[in-house]
Amino acid sequence: MNALRKHVIQPIIDCWSLLVGLKITGKYFCKPLITVHYPRQVIDDENLTTYGGHVELIGKPKDPAMPKCISCMMCVTNCPSGCLKVVKQKVEKPTPEQEQAWKEAEERGEKVVKPKAPKNPAKFVYDYTLCSLCGTCIDNCPAKSLKFSNNIYWVATSRKEMKIDLLARLKGQATDLSAPAPKTEAKPAAAEKEA
Ligand code: SF4
Ligand code: SF4
Repeated sequence: MNALRKHVIQPIIDCWSLLVGLKITGKYFCKPLITVHYPRQVIDDENLTTYGGHVELIGKPKDPAMPKCISCMMCVTNCPSGCLKVVKQKVEKPTPEQEQAWKEAEERGEKVVKPKAPKNPAKFVYDYTLCSLCGTCIDNCPAKSLKFSNNIYWVATSRKEMKIDLLARLKGQATDLSAPAPKTEAKPAAAEKEA
């Protein structure tokens, strides 16, 4: 009985396992590539819609360099890892002439409307080294001013570089978008492959 198992049944089981393994390998071997040969090829933006990179600010539709952020601090309060630092704008100090004018208006019983600080933040710094990409800041932002970036090719060589000034990044992105299109377009990856 043992000889039958050793010389007949076991080899059949081994061959069957081998065939199953080869079938799976063959199936994936014939599928089109889902990876690219970076840096010779890059992934198109439309294929990055589900990619969740670092957190970044969203600009206003009419002024892309200006964040939709209203400095409410909800993201800072709710972030479990303390990655975000937002500094509110300060009210501009009134000139002595303005102060005098307000005082006189108040004495006359008039309503004085004093200037308020702008709502957009003065500073918005994000520490990517601490972020767990949990999305709590994005979910809690009442102004819908935060999103995960599709910045897939971003690299940093030190922890310091991973502290990102999100206002500067937004400004840079807005400038890039408003820049005129290059005269010659880069060769598409597929064309490069064929060449
Ligand atoms: S994704 Fe999560 S950990 Fe990262 S900044 Fe937002 S709340 Fe903090
Ligand atoms: S990004 Fe959103 S949650 Fe954070 S301070 Fe600005 S408005 Fe508030």
